[in-house]
This record gives sequence, structure tokens and C-alpha cells, in this order.
Amino acid sequence: IGTLYVVATPIGNLEDLSPRAARLLGEVALVAAEDTRHTAGLLRRLGLSVPLLSLHEHNETARVDQLDARLVRGEDIALVSDAGTPLISDPGFVLVRELRVRGRRIVPIPGACALVAALSAAGLPTDRFLFQGFLPAKAGARRQRLQALANREETLVFYESPHRIRDSLAAIADAFGERRLVLARELTKTFETFLDGNARDLLARMDDDPDQARGEFVIMVAGAVPDNEAEAAHLEADALLSALLAEGVGV
Ligand code: SAM
Repeated sequence: IGTLYVVATPIGNLEDLSPRAARLLGEVALVAAEDTRHTAGLLRRLGLSVPLLSLHEHNETARVDQLDARLVRGEDIALVSDAGTPLISDPGFVLVRELRVRGRRIVPIPGACALVAALSAAGLPTDRFLFQGFLPAKAGARRQRLQALANREETLVFYESPHRIRDSLAAIADAFGERRLVLARELTKTFETFLDGNARDLLARMDDDPDQARGEFVIMVAGAVPDNEAEAAHLEADALLSALLAEGVGV
């Protein structure tokens, strides 16, 4: 019986494709790809010629039996998306879920993933984080989602496109106020940038330099300060104020 390899591909820089991924892409009988034209370009650059089959959100369910039949025939298959790790805000979940239920061998070939790359260099806590994928496109749903996250103490991570980055930052400003945020843009590419500040600061930076609103983004928002810590900070400030007043310092 064949193996399904879930293969991470680069998120910008071709050198991020692992030698293991490159070898497997050349060895499998078939590559199931989110966009076959896009992946054909990658395979061409690697000097590989492998049959491709499309697998995207609209045909994924219909492809399960077809791909499973090929595994049963003993063929190995690679699953790739346009960029980064399949299934992470990308197609593949239905296929992997169904093949796992059927007891097939599924092997991850790790590599680039924008969320991990962004977190690894942002300087926000990474011991606990909450990945939220893309925020809803509609303003009301987006506001609700952000409100539901307002008390979470983990670092919050969102994916965003250039079309909606300003709307999302404005909604984050409304929901989270002055909270610290790190915006990772164009990771591994020529114009890779990390911006740091609250959401309004970052919007102002985009007004000053519209290039900052171009490309692909990972938005990372500092988690909420736990209630007891916020209270402790408050009490500390009160105590300091009382001490200053007691010493007759004019405040
Ligand atoms: N599967 C991919 C991964 O492993 O990161 C994510 C695919 S999702 C459809 C595309 C989103 O990922 C973009 O809108 C952006 O939020 C993020 N992304 C992908 N490549 C990126 C990059 N080079 N720099 C910043 N964000 C990126």
C-alpha cells in the first residue's frame, strides 16, 4: 500500500524547500496540488516532471476515493498547497481525515509555515498561542470574533491578505485598544518586514508608507493580561500613590 506524504513547500524563498521534500516530490507517482499550475512552476524549477492532480476546497471530498484507490494500488502520493504547510489555512483536511479513518499511512514532511516563522522572530510569548487563521470578511462577524478573543491570555495569531489588512487592524484597534501587536510581512521574501506597535500605530505607518500594506501578513497580538496580574499592578500603583501622598509629594 502506498503512502500519502503531506509536503510543506516554501512561503517565498525556494531555498526553504527541504532536500527531503525535493527528493519525495521526484519519487511519488502523483502530486495532489491546490493549484496545479502553481505547483507545476515549482516542479519545473526543481527540474522535476511528475503527474499533477488538483485538490482544492471545491473538489476535495470527491477526490478522496480516487486518491485512496491509487494508494491501495501501491502508489505514493504527495499533497502540497500553494505555499507552506498543507492543511494550515489550506486544503487537505478532508483528505487526511478520511485516509486516517481508513488506516492509510500518512507522513508529514515538515517545512515552511508562515505562522511558525512569524512567531519565531516576533518577540511575543510563544509558550502558548492561539492560531485563528483568517478573520471573517464581514465586519459584524469580525467584530464578534475579536470580542470573543478579548480575554484570551495566549498570543493571538491571524493570517491576513493585503485586501483586508487595514480593515482587520482597525477592528483589532477597536477590540483590543492599545495592546501590543507585531505584524510580519512578506516572510522569507525580499521585502520581509516586522512592525511593532499597537494597531493604530501600524495603521499610521501604512498611511505614511503604503508599501507597508502590500504583500502577505501574519498579525500577532499580545494576549490579555490576566485579571489578577492587572489587579496586582493596579494595587501596586495605588500603594505607590498613597506612599507619595504620605510623604507629602505633590501629585
Ligand atoms: N499553508 C500556509 C502556511 O503554512 O503558512 C498558509 C496558507 S494561507 C492560504 C495564506 C496566508 O498565509 C497569507 O494570507 C498570509 O496571511 C500567510 N502567509 C503565507 N506566506 C506568507 C509570507 N511569506 N509572509 C507572511 N505571511 C504569509
